[in-house]
Amino acid sequence: MELNIYLYLIVFIVTADFIFDQWLDYLNKKAWTNTVPDALADVYPTDKFEKHKLYRSANYRFGIVNHLFSFVLLMSVLLMGGFSLADGWAAAMSINPIWRALIFFAIIGIVSTVINIPFSWYDTFVIEAKFGFNKTTPKIFWTDLLKSLLLGALIGGPLMAALIWFYTALGDWFWLAAWGLVAFFTVFMAMFYTTLLLPLFNKQTPLPEGELRQAIEAMGQRAGFKIDNIVVMDGSKRSTKANAFFSGFGPKKRIVLYDTLINDLSVDEITAVLAHEIGHYKLKHILWGTLIGIAQTGAILFVFSKVVSAPQLSMALGVETPQFHIGLITFGILFTPISMVLGLVGSWLSRQNEYAADAFAAKHADGIYLVSALKKISANALSNVTPHPVYVFFHYSHPPLLDRIGEIEKVQI
Ligand SMILES: [Zn+2]
Repeated sequence: MELNIYLYLIVFIVTADFIFDQWLDYLNKKAWTNTVPDALADVYPTDKFEKHKLYRSANYRFGIVNHLFSFVLLMSVLLMGGFSLADGWAAAMSINPIWRALIFFAIIGIVSTVINIPFSWYDTFVIEAKFGFNKTTPKIFWTDLLKSLLLGALIGGPLMAALIWFYTALGDWFWLAAWGLVAFFTVFMAMFYTTLLLPLFNKQTPLPEGELRQAIEAMGQRAGFKIDNIVVMDGSKRSTKANAFFSGFGPKKRIVLYDTLINDLSVDEITAVLAHEIGHYKLKHILWGTLIGIAQTGAILFVFSKVVSAPQLSMALGVETPQFHIGLITFGILFTPISMVLGLVGSWLSRQNEYAADAFAAKHADGIYLVSALKKISANALSNVTPHPVYVFFHYSHPPLLDRIGEIEKVQI
């Protein structure tokens, strides 16, 4: 295949991105500590800290192999014309541009899912199992995989079909219709995620009567949040790791509490964690996050609409006549540096929101219990205690544990 300037650019961006990620991982490894930080001494007895060290090493090695494999694979696909091969198969099956694109993405989606299975299997059944985290059975593993593929087809398929239909019907203005559709879909998903999608993977039950519910009700009243919107989810079905999250807005708002969190934490600690989640809602983090995401999508779609028809985008991947789906792949890779910057801004905002929700929790519950809850959650998951600041800047949606503890202690006093 003939090399064009865009292909060189793509190869350069993919390589630079890979090297940069390896460098970040290396920096992060350099920041590992061999002694327990004083603030965490109570949750890390010596044997547990030894386990923490082994876990981060295992994850580091796995990350290197995984990233290297993905890099070599993507490079081979790019340089050997893999995308144009897949497009050729799709074109042989249908001349309709929508079906051609859907078949193309189905091929890419299925192939990448299948290639990723050994990595995902190793992570779940070797690393996570070795450190006592894994509860996933092979049956759950395979059904999760099938459900994800089906959902991808049922949701991604019609969305992609609509985008291409807009493109063929509206030309340059397709981005506006696409934006409207994506915005509607984003809001719909944010609202109905816990009632439509989550039940396919997990059971959610109302918080049972008892001491915990009473404590949470009292706190909810102080913070102005109705307790009916709190459910317990069977996270223990897959992993011992604990979590809680807020989802949706308006009448569809809901706080989801993992059953593992209830097993690991005291009533006061759970109440503090829930106060943090209520903080996200009261401080409108979900609403703003959704609106910012929609604005960003609009800007990206606008830029995309300006370049999608350029024959060079399709030719870069070895496809002679411009195709929407090939342009989308090329654009996605060329856009990597910009999406990295957008991601940085998003993560920074998210970390600020975490501090704000922590402060809210310290005010409406008890900061001391929030600190002990965060310490237990982090230690039970053997999370890296000293991530490198540059790594945090690029990859962390939550501030590192020790920074959060420092900030909570400031507002608590
Ligand atoms: Zn949070």
